Amino acid sequence: VTVGLTLSLAACGQSANGAGDGGTGADAKGGLVGIAMPTKSSERWINDGTNMVKEFQAKGYKTDLQYGDNVVENQVSQVENMITKGAKLLVIAAIDGSSLSNVLQKAADAHIPVISYDRLIRGTKNVDYYATFDNYKVGVLQGSYIVDKLGLKDGKGPFNIELFAGSPDDNNATFFFNGAMSALKPYVDDKKLVVQSGQTSFNQIATLRWDGGLAQSRMDNLLSKSYTAARVDAVLSPYDGISIGIISSLKGVGYGAGRPLPVVTGQDGELASVKSIIAGEQTQTVYKDTRQLAKAAVQMGDALLTGGKPEVNDTGQYDNGVKTVPAQLLQPVSVDKENYQKVLVDSGQYTADQLK
Ligand code: BGC
Repeated sequence: VTVGLTLSLAACGQSANGAGDGGTGADAKGGLVGIAMPTKSSERWINDGTNMVKEFQAKGYKTDLQYGDNVVENQVSQVENMITKGAKLLVIAAIDGSSLSNVLQKAADAHIPVISYDRLIRGTKNVDYYATFDNYKVGVLQGSYIVDKLGLKDGKGPFNIELFAGSPDDNNATFFFNGAMSALKPYVDDKKLVVQSGQTSFNQIATLRWDGGLAQSRMDNLLSKSYTAARVDAVLSPYDGISIGIISSLKGVGYGAGRPLPVVTGQDGELASVKSIIAGEQTQTVYKDTRQLAKAAVQMGDALLTGGKPEVNDTGQYDNGVKTVPAQLLQPVSVDKENYQKVLVDSGQYTADQLK
């Protein structure tokens, strides 16, 4: 019996210990795909996970979808577990982009290819492909929305602005911030945009783990220190969950009742924020169709496992400190009150009922 079992495992291309011989092989097609997502506290990651499960299963794969609850150690042990279970492919949206080197060495030792999903995994050669959106462009859409909305190009101003960035351990956060500042900085330099708090460096404005509660307390502090007399005209926010915290803080001191709320940007097109946009509170969000991102990652993964060619359209922008990771970049779309119907409802992202 033992001999027969060993032979049949060998015949289907799997190592006799059952675990860790991923990559192309007779059994890779239809094998187990490990999908590690950061958190369920934001809708987008829930959708990313379920969309990928659907797409991989439609192609005949088994899936193991795990959420790390924004705790780095959870994610590391979840990925370790996937390797032990014999995953043939890993798709990972990192919590901390630089904390996966050891576990990904284990994946490499077991010949398991790795796709970095949405967020670039840094500091290791053991990442094969990257599926994401044009992250710099996300920031450009946020920054230039503020420029247009305030009428800065028509010479209006000066206006007061405060800046928020995302989590410092997420490679995307600097891309968003740099993209936004490419649009805003000329006006800051011309004093047409004034940051009354003086907090303009990435480290001063970053928000660990994209936590909306942290953003709310920071906004409370900014308002009480720098805006007892002055008015905030715009807030650069990188993500809808952060925008919600900022808006609560503003409403707490009377914005939205009597004096108008500032222009507040966002990202992801989360349901609560789209409703807030319709209600005239949040001004804008940047929508990224995660259905398309899931498809792109699944195309890459399936190609890697079956000897096909992963589709990429960027081979120069995403240096992870050790290598430049070939990437497929999808296009983000700016959404506000004017176009949410077309972009979010007509596309089937939300039903009109969900937005009521
Ligand atoms: C993603 C954004 C998201 C943020 C917070 C980033 O890495 O690209 O879409 O808003 O994480 O979850």
